[in-house]
This record gives sequence, structure tokens and C-alpha cells, in this order.
Amino acid sequence: MSETTSDTPVKRPTATIDLPGDWTYAPSTESTDPVTVADRYGLYINGGWQKPASGEWFPTIDPSTEEQLSEVASANSADVGRAVKAARTAFEEVWGPMSGAERAKYLFRIARMIQERAREISILETMDGGKPIRESRDFDIPQAAAHLFYHAGWADKLEYAFPGLEPKPLGVAAQVIPWNFPFLMLAWKVAPALATGNTVVLKPAETTSLTALLFAQICEEAGLPPGVFNLVTGAGETGSDLVTHPDVDKVAFTGSTAVGKKIQSQLAGTEKKLTLELGGKGAHVVFDDAALDDAVEGVVNGIFFNQGHVCCAGSRLLVQETIHDRFVDKLKRRLSTLRVGYPLDKNTDVGAINSKMQRDKITELVESGVADGAEIYQPECELPERGFWFVPTLFTDVSQSHRIAQEEIFGPVLSVLTFRDPDEAVKRANNTPYGLSAGVWTQKGSRILWMADRLDAGVVWANTFNQFDPSSPFGGYKESGFGREGGRQGLLAYMDTGI
Ligand code: NAD
Ligand code: MN
Repeated sequence: MSETTSDTPVKRPTATIDLPGDWTYAPSTESTDPVTVADRYGLYINGGWQKPASGEWFPTIDPSTEEQLSEVASANSADVGRAVKAARTAFEEVWGPMSGAERAKYLFRIARMIQERAREISILETMDGGKPIRESRDFDIPQAAAHLFYHAGWADKLEYAFPGLEPKPLGVAAQVIPWNFPFLMLAWKVAPALATGNTVVLKPAETTSLTALLFAQICEEAGLPPGVFNLVTGAGETGSDLVTHPDVDKVAFTGSTAVGKKIQSQLAGTEKKLTLELGGKGAHVVFDDAALDDAVEGVVNGIFFNQGHVCCAGSRLLVQETIHDRFVDKLKRRLSTLRVGYPLDKNTDVGAINSKMQRDKITELVESGVADGAEIYQPECELPERGFWFVPTLFTDVSQSHRIAQEEIFGPVLSVLTFRDPDEAVKRANNTPYGLSAGVWTQKGSRILWMADRLDAGVVWANTFNQFDPSSPFGGYKESGFGREGGRQGLLAYMDTGI
């Protein structure tokens, strides 16, 4: 992106529905033709579709238009009980006794079907959740397929993953996932669980159930034995019924720290194994010797990717004092070229906020930043009339005590702080209850290693950000949770190795 010389942000209408188009970027909207959405979805239990015992359904909307897409079943404790029972029977009779090589065949088949239907899944993901089609198409869905392929490869090699041990599956895994990466988080959870011989009951987030329901259809078409994968849709109460069910052996949760803490206390004293992947307040540290234009791209990607609904987002920028003004100028110019708008438009950089509730939460935190005395910058940007949106926001003059420097905003909002030397950078970066991710930008290799050693973060990216691979374990420290997903380490969360 070439830089403009003026400090005044360029006004760029969004390429979106009902808006005057900017002729330099004609809208390039992805068609919804590949997608079929049913009026109503039941629960996928024991290899079939069932009505909820409650007789209740709830709507799921497209957050960019507020239009209802479908109705999803609200599972109650009786439904959860049926799903857990199906998973138990499948574990004991079919999936547990099956050889790893046989299990792998199913997983490879499902992975290939995801690839074959990638376009359809991407479009549905964008419709139901609001993320830009470019991201669901180029990141979420390919990564989800990659996770299934990777774990399918492990299924018949588990004794080599842990030499000298005899790893065994745990049994029934209860998995609860959030709305920010609905299909990818499903893959992160389901792939290692099934590869290691466990069976699954999964609950997606209430605003984004549709791609999980499509995954259940794929399992059905793949001939996955009944009960191996079960899907219960619903809100927090359904999740609570699931994780506290007495016949569950393993709980895997991704979501807010508040709910994670609650689950941990509910599970205390039980035999259940638990992994938690919670919030974050990632520090993105830019030293004065960094390649600044690259760093600007990295910082923008770090916080505006997926509207900032990312637990490992680089939401706190720590920039060395000597380059603060120059760097912030560059950032502001770059922000003014971000295209906010209709998520199915391939030109869109920043899509819709996932829900009204999340938009209100972001608004409240941004207002607290202004009230606390931080300086706000928002590029001029026309937002569509309907739907939930938030303009990319930058705060300077932020102090450590401000809520916008401490709390997870989970939106397109970056707080800028400064530091003088590497020691101070580390101190400030670690001054948070969280410990999920961090980024370092410097030309000095030795400094990268020095920083990585000292940053309390599960992942530290150097001169890049948001890089993911199924072979690379991901997870947090402190209030960001515990346990790892991905890699050989991630398998351990679903196995009993006897140690
Ligand atoms: P949440 O923790 O309430 O929801 C995550 C999942 O947990 C959803 O499926 C939800 O239905 C379920 N759930 C809710 N209450 C539950 C309970 N008592 N027992 C079991 N499951 C339960 O998160 P949210 O309300 O969707 O978002 C709130 C905040 O959480 C966000 O603003 C963000 O800060 C954070 N968040 C973090 C992540 C992450 O990836 N780490 C993801 C989503 C949200
Ligand atoms: Mn939705």
C-alpha cells in the first residue's frame, strides 16, 4: 500500500451494500449460491438429527445485515445427557477399540470433504459470524482442514509420539467453543480428540452454530460411526450442562476468562481432565531498529484481523519512545486505508462485529479510554446503516492503569504505550493478568531470543504475527489458561500416558 503524504485520512466509502461505491474498488461480492441454509436445525446425536427435548429453538442472524438466517435447537440437560450417552457407547463399542489406522481413514476422509466444500463452508462462516470472506476463505477453513490432516496422520503413530509409554484415550470429551473462529476452533478441538480415540460432544457458540451443523452433516456423509461426534447447540446453560455432566472424562473450553474460571471451580475435585484457552492482552513490541513499514503491516494484522475478535491479538502496542511519533503517523495512514464493510465483499478488510452485545462491550471500553484521558484516533469511515460495526480505533497517551491497557476489548481497538529500553519493554509487556501471545519487531536476532525468554506468553512471534500451523502448540500462561492445542503436546490433552 503506497503512503499518502497528507496526514488527513483519505475518505474511502466502504465497498458494501446500500452504499455509494468508490469506483476505484468496485464491489466484488462473493455469491451465496453454494450455501443452502435450512429454516431450522435439530441436534446431531448418535449419528442422527433429533428435536430438542425443550421444544425450543433460537434464531441465528447475519451480524452484517441483522437478517435471520435460521433457527437452531436449544439443547437442555436431557439432550446433553443423550449426547453424552451416545458418545460413551461409541467410545466403548466402536471408536475406542478401533485401530488408529482405521480412525485415520475417517479423519482423512472428513479433511478431504472439508477441502472439497471449502468455498461453501467459508461463505456460511462469513454469513453467520461477520468475518471477511477473505479470512474465512484463506485462513479459517484451510487451517481447519490442515488440523484434521495433521491429526489424522498421528492416529496410527501415537506410541511413537510418546516412546516408552502406552498412551490411552480418556473417553468422552466435552468441548465448548467461542464465536470468533467457529469452524477452526471446532477443528482444533475435534481433530486431536478423535485422532487419539476419544469421542466428542461439542457445543458451538450461540451466534455461530451453522458451520458446526455443516460439519455434523459432513461427519454423517463420511459415514463416521454414530455417537463418535455429537453436536448440541444452545447458549451458556447448555455449555454448563455439558461440562458438568458426570459421565464426561475430559473438558476442553475456549472462551472468556470469567467462564473458564467458573468451569475450573465446578470441575475441582472431579477426575475430569481440563484444558482452558481463555482471553489475552497481547503485547506487540516494536524496537527502533525494526523494519518499520513491515512492522506497521504486522501491527495492523495483529489487531484488525477478524475485527480484533482474536484471543491472541496484539492489542497493546509497545513502541520504543524514539520512534513513537513516526510510527504512530504511519499507523494512522495505514488505518485510513482499511476497508470496513460487507463481509462477503472480497475487498473488505474489517467485517462486522459478531453481535450487538460485543459491539456494546467494545463501545463501553472505548468510552472508558476517552474518559480516562487517552487520545483517540479513528479514520473517517462510512458504516452501513444496518448491522454491527466498529471503526478501527487507535489510542495514544495510554497509561498502564487505563482499562483499555488492562482489559481484553476483543474488538478493533489498539492501545499504544511506549518504552525506553528492552528491560522496560519486558516489564510493561508482562504487566497483565494474561499470557497468551506477544510479538517482537527488531533486526537483532539476539534481542529476539532475549525477549522471547522473558515474555510471559505461550507464543512469541518475531518480525511477523498471527502465524499458525497444526504442528505448533498454542496455549497460554496465567489467566490465559493452560494446556496446549496442536503439535505433539496437544495430543497429551486427550491421552492418559500413565504419568
Ligand atoms: P463466553 O466465555 O461466555 O462464551 C464462550 C462459549 O462458552 C460459548 O459457547 C458459550 O455459550 C459458552 N458458555 C457460556 N457460559 C458457559 C458456562 N457457564 N459453562 C459452559 N459454557 C459456557 O464468551 P462470550 O460471552 O462469547 O465473550 C465474552 C468475552 O470472552 C469476549 O468479549 C472476549 O473477551 C472473550 N472471548 C475470548 C475468546 C478466546 O478465544 N479466548 C473467545 C471468545 C470470547
Ligand atoms: Mn449468527
